[in-house]
Amino acid sequence: MYDEVFSSPNFGYPKGSHGRNGHDILGICLHITGATWTSNYNWIMNPAANASYNAIVRDDGTVVSLVPEENAAYSHGRINKATWPLLKSGVNPNLYTLSLARTGANQRTWTREQLYSTLDVLKIWARKHDIPLKRPYMFGHFEVDSVNRWYCPGEKFFDRVITELSKIEAPNEDPATTRLWYRVVAGSFSNRDYAERRKDNLKNIGVEAFIVQFVDADNNTWHRVVAASYQDPENARRHATSLNSSGLDAFITKFREG
Ligand SMILES: [Zn+2]
Repeated sequence: MYDEVFSSPNFGYPKGSHGRNGHDILGICLHITGATWTSNYNWIMNPAANASYNAIVRDDGTVVSLVPEENAAYSHGRINKATWPLLKSGVNPNLYTLSLARTGANQRTWTREQLYSTLDVLKIWARKHDIPLKRPYMFGHFEVDSVNRWYCPGEKFFDRVITELSKIEAPNEDPATTRLWYRVVAGSFSNRDYAERRKDNLKNIGVEAFIVQFVDADNNTWHRVVAASYQDPENARRHATSLNSSGLDAFITKFREG
């Protein structure tokens, strides 16, 4: 499920302890990181930060693991006028919950890829840890700290996630997964002409590419040159690597049909 795995030093109570001090996982807390992936990464990998999430969904829908699910992250330990009904008094909520964040600084916007990957992770975690896919088991940071984190993970985003989860009837079926594609993007440009030029260059080496638009969390439009799409992420990775070795800045994004 994870596209990339990193090990944040910020986990466990006391810090560095594995496991959850005997607690079972009761729920999943959603967050917005408030920044870009690069700055999130630098902060979460810094042992002085005391900040982490179990996982982050990036703008392009890729999912990064930062603290293994069996360990407690440093995500929502500060309780301030909490409304979450499952809160255990006197226990750090990170010990009995998982945390999933999405990158972004604007609580009102998100990408389509991000929403769908968030739903995927919630479904997988819920099944694995036996958590019901609905409120209050799925909750937002604003329910733990309604004063300073009222915007986390984003008012409309949280509502949308809960609405989408309520449409899931057969938890053992995941038809969405069958329509998931891994796109090999050989260049992403804010200027459409540059994207066209890249497309022509690819044609010269025998690659029929096409251009898709991508709007990031800051509402910037990018023109991505798609060299190929695969259902098997390994094939996509191989193709991207071969483009990299010919000097192209290729990377992989997830794309969901429908
Ligand atoms: Zn948060």
